[in-house]
Amino acid sequence: MTHVITPAALPCVPVRGGGSWPVHRIYCVGRNYAEHAQEMGFTGREPPFFFCKPADAVVPVPFGETGVVAYPSLTSDLHHEVELVVALGKGGRDIAAADAPGHVWGYAVGLDLTRRDRQAEMKKLGRPWEIGKAFEQSAPISPIVPIAVSGTLRSGAITLAVNGQPRQQGDIADLIWSVAEIIEQLSRAWTLQPGDLVFTGTPAGVGAVVRGDLMEAAVAGLGTLRVVLR
Ligand code: MN
Repeated sequence: MTHVITPAALPCVPVRGGGSWPVHRIYCVGRNYAEHAQEMGFTGREPPFFFCKPADAVVPVPFGETGVVAYPSLTSDLHHEVELVVALGKGGRDIAAADAPGHVWGYAVGLDLTRRDRQAEMKKLGRPWEIGKAFEQSAPISPIVPIAVSGTLRSGAITLAVNGQPRQQGDIADLIWSVAEIIEQLSRAWTLQPGDLVFTGTPAGVGAVVRGDLMEAAVAGLGTLRVVLR
């Protein structure tokens, strides 16, 4: 059967060492570092919760380059959230946490850009978060580093600076729900597929950025993702 319109291009992210990662879905974990949960007004280890961004929200930024993202419409409070991103090379349902490491193909540094004002409004009204989270260019991402190169990441600094000033500083050892536990929980709700990306949550220190700001997001072992807002 012939398509009656031209299909959209497959969103892809470069892989360190060569090749390209076709993005299937983007899952995101909410409030997964204790201090960030506190700054958002929550305490304790609540069950993990998830939201999605469209696959074509990715803005792939090659190492050594600076990505450019247009300041989005409908917000005057765009927030940065640096996150460890997990790339799944193998899908499945009901994956046990003990088996989850075998599903991880690699990692990247990602930014979960958020229209915080719109998100706060939707939270208050009990409405969906898409307007705050799932907009165009809301997921800048570094190249994917194969786990064969990085090894399994269990700890290491996760940081974000704006115009050279530190804003977010955490350690991925402080994830409330580990990567393996996230995969276990996600796979109970969705059939995971090769190509899925999981944004695993952000440490404390989120805040606003404005046009002209340079964000430098880093996870130890994965390099630095640089994005400027225009
Ligand atoms: Mn986030």
